[in-house]
Amino acid sequence: MTAITITVKQVLDRKGGTTYSVSPDTSVYEALELMARHEIGAVLVTEGERLLGIFTERDYARKIVLKGLSSRNAKVGELMSTNIHTVPPTEQITAVMNTMTKRRFRHVPVVEGGKTIGLISIGDVVKAIMDEQEATIQHLANYIAGDLAT
Ligand code: AMP
Repeated sequence: MTAITITVKQVLDRKGGTTYSVSPDTSVYEALELMARHEIGAVLVTEGERLLGIFTERDYARKIVLKGLSSRNAKVGELMSTNIHTVPPTEQITAVMNTMTKRRFRHVPVVEGGKTIGLISIGDVVKAIMDEQEATIQHLANYIAGDLAT
């Protein structure tokens, strides 16, 4: 089997480095509005350039809905995850996939030289791997077709 070797940087080059951030005192409701507007499942929580945490739809489901709290009163800073796993752009996408599976989260900020330069979601990982496999299949099909024609 062909090993998949795609880096986080290659994925970011294709999808772009846009990330959506809120400050810790943003209400959960506002954060959810931002996520809905951009069709994303997570926002980074920042103070200036400093990455403080991550808040995702799962945090909303578990820390607001199930606890009967109000998203208009609760602040993102009170509910975000702070022990953030980040990756450098040189990381292999298969390594990101393994970490996401093992640690059960679906978002990973990409950090280079102390700066956040993008965010990889599990959707980006799946797409990158499927695109790579599709290219490999196409390559093999062309090779076989070329070989049979001779
Ligand atoms: P997710 O599957 O990404 O919606 O996240 C599941 C849980 O893990 C939530 O509590 C998130 O705040 C947290 N989480 C998401 N991404 C990360 C990350 N890269 N590092 C640490 N925690 C995270």
